Amino acid sequence: MILKMDRLPIELPIPTNPSANDAAAVQELLGGKFGEMSTLMNYTYQSFNFRGRTRLRPFYDVIGSIAGEEYGHIEVVAYTINLLLTGTSKRGFDPESGPLKKMTDSRISRHFVASGQGALPMDSMGDWWSGENVFSSGNLKLDLLHNFFLECGARANKMRVYEMVTDPTAREMVGYLLVRGGVHIVAYAKALEHLTGVEVSKLVPIPDLSNKAFPETRKYEQNGIHRRLYSFSAEDYRQAGMIWTGTHPEDGQPLEFVVGAPEGAPAPDLEEEPQLNAPGAMDINPEMFQTVAKKMGIKM
Ligand code: MN
Ligand code: MN
Repeated sequence: MILKMDRLPIELPIPTNPSANDAAAVQELLGGKFGEMSTLMNYTYQSFNFRGRTRLRPFYDVIGSIAGEEYGHIEVVAYTINLLLTGTSKRGFDPESGPLKKMTDSRISRHFVASGQGALPMDSMGDWWSGENVFSSGNLKLDLLHNFFLECGARANKMRVYEMVTDPTAREMVGYLLVRGGVHIVAYAKALEHLTGVEVSKLVPIPDLSNKAFPETRKYEQNGIHRRLYSFSAEDYRQAGMIWTGTHPEDGQPLEFVVGAPEGAPAPDLEEEPQLNAPGAMDINPEMFQTVAKKMGIKM
């Protein structure tokens, strides 16, 4: 089961220059082969399918806790796309003026046709995310090796999207996810080391460039976020801490296992886009819920 928090892992700044094509590029990090939907669904299925959990519990807990974290990553990438799309078309109620006219130039016209200027489960070229991106062989060594490769591929894609999109919202998100993806790379390397004795962490960083080349990663690394693995559960997945031990392969600092989740930040309240009738419902009576809210002790 999953316990949900209405928060994002980090606070996202508002874009300085909203752009539908920047949003399209960022879609690769959501619904691309190496995007957050892929990491989420790979670790989710691998944890559901895990055999011999009692004997191999620490490995199960690493995959299960990281699966929990990836849910928050799809959220933060989706909100980045939504903020980049907010205000890109002409805002208003009059269809005759063609408020979506310039959207015929945007790479993913589905942002304006199939959704209300919002993220969709697709890559930067508008191809839908597919379950074919999930690898769950049932062989622990093979699955961990795949996950290590997947996180390295995800890191390469993030770096390239960073180079394509200069907007601060996208770069803040990429900076954070480079740091957290770096944690996952090391976690799967450590898991493989425990399983096989092979020093997989000697391979990092892949690609060769350090996270330090990206200024947005600095404050996260200064706060030790690159050294911390979270259980993403109040009680469970604690044996992941038996694998997340020793020091970080890049800076030699001690690794830290945290029971629970990061504090996070409120998700942005997305502005309305009336030209798409998103969200519509203009005649709703704002007082509709007030009596029952009072009874329930909810502040509105
Ligand atoms: Mn991720
Ligand atoms: Mn990851």
